[in-house]
Amino acid sequence: MVSLPGCDVPEEPLQDLIPADLIRRELPLPEFTELDAVRHFTRLSQKNFSVDTHFYPLGSCTMKYNPKVNEEVAKFPGFSEVHPGQDESEIQGMLELLYDMEKYLCAIFGYEAFTFQPAAGAHGELTSLLMIKAYHRDKGQGKRYKVIIPDSSHGTNPASVSMVGYKAVVVKSNGRGNIDIDALKKAAGDDTAGLMLTNPNTLGLFDEHIEEIADIIHKAGGLLYYDGANANATLGVCRPADLGFDVAHFNLHKTFSTPHGGGGPGAGPVGVNKTLEPFLPVPRVIKANDKFQMTNDKFPKSIGRVHSFHGNINVIVRAYAYIRSLGSQGLQEVSKKAVENANYMMNILKKYYYLPYDRPCQHEFVLSAKWQKEKCGIKALDIAKRLIDYGFHPPTIYFPLIVEEALMIEPTETESKATLDAFCDAMIKIAGECETNPDIIRSAPHSTPVGRLDEAKAAREPDLRWFKSSQG
Ligand SMILES: *Cc1c(COP(=O)(O)O)cnc(C)c1O
Repeated sequence: MVSLPGCDVPEEPLQDLIPADLIRRELPLPEFTELDAVRHFTRLSQKNFSVDTHFYPLGSCTMKYNPKVNEEVAKFPGFSEVHPGQDESEIQGMLELLYDMEKYLCAIFGYEAFTFQPAAGAHGELTSLLMIKAYHRDKGQGKRYKVIIPDSSHGTNPASVSMVGYKAVVVKSNGRGNIDIDALKKAAGDDTAGLMLTNPNTLGLFDEHIEEIADIIHKAGGLLYYDGANANATLGVCRPADLGFDVAHFNLHKTFSTPHGGGGPGAGPVGVNKTLEPFLPVPRVIKANDKFQMTNDKFPKSIGRVHSFHGNINVIVRAYAYIRSLGSQGLQEVSKKAVENANYMMNILKKYYYLPYDRPCQHEFVLSAKWQKEKCGIKALDIAKRLIDYGFHPPTIYFPLIVEEALMIEPTETESKATLDAFCDAMIKIAGECETNPDIIRSAPHSTPVGRLDEAKAAREPDLRWFKSSQG
């Protein structure tokens, strides 16, 4: 049984609406009842992994629970039904939210001002580097073109450097997972535009010499950029601006519990100190005579726009709801709990998997499948696939690049001890299977409709048809 609405266009003659040569009389569409279609799509949706259904310990990505109150607030018609072209006088509430949100992020991270235009972390990196470039040009130092990056950096960092026409210079990490200071001193000079750093870095470790690092770069005349995509260890604990970072981006779709979805929409707001404030994208929201305004006028050195209107506004509303519902105390607890959860798991699992940097971690930690590989030829990829059979989303693997057979685990603060224990149990069972039944790991997953995919082919040549067409 299907109940379709009545036809609201003339049925005949079709020629009046559609050119005759485009009209098909035969259309081999599948014939199903409404109930069959509902069951098909509901069943398909149940095969998905999501934070709402499963533990999702994807290192670096902060797959935390996204509270439903965020969605409720984003649905308020005053937010969801405004048009960016509306007159300022009609969107005072939205502008006030942007204005207040900027103040909140400044308080949390220590910056002077923020832009909300960047639509993702990588976009925030690009925006930051464009500002750094504009700053050096403004000072008559346009010849600076090198950006120093540690070898533990996220892959987007060197990519963003190339996008602005700069050159990435990679500096090694030392045995404790910190930047090698001697290598940094050698790399820094009068051609240095800046340094890009994540701290805690992608190993989940806090660089113990951050003040010395900032000093070396600033003395060389460069600026420090903080990749704060994942700030889940630092909320209310330490502020990147206080550590010496001149500019930083933060992913609302990681730390601030807005959804990650199919590549977007996300938001990667960028904060700047006084030095870089003149270069922020426009328009900016200001308050004058008790009214909120968007303005370009006062910022002649701005790099201009990096997104239409104000960026992905509805994402910002969700993050605003998150900050308001937790408050400053709650945000601090987020980080404390996230760090506690990561250390709890790391200390259980390091008896079964090699831990290359054995010191207290921050929001995440990186194990290696080196022992399993040496003993029974089991790789990080195999372990990741086997975890699916135990009902867990695999962690990030083979990243950061400096750890052989890396397994990068980030539990986040929203998981219960019972869930963390269940995940550790699965990891311990897999470590045991390596010795008793390695084939079951090598051929995993066994619980999914399809097993090992050619992932590159699946992405490049997706087969989305419901039947095989003779037309190819
Ligand atoms: C996720 C992440 C990025 C990139 O963020 P996107 O929103 O995916 O562009 C950059 N750096 C680090 C450290 C990250 O974890």
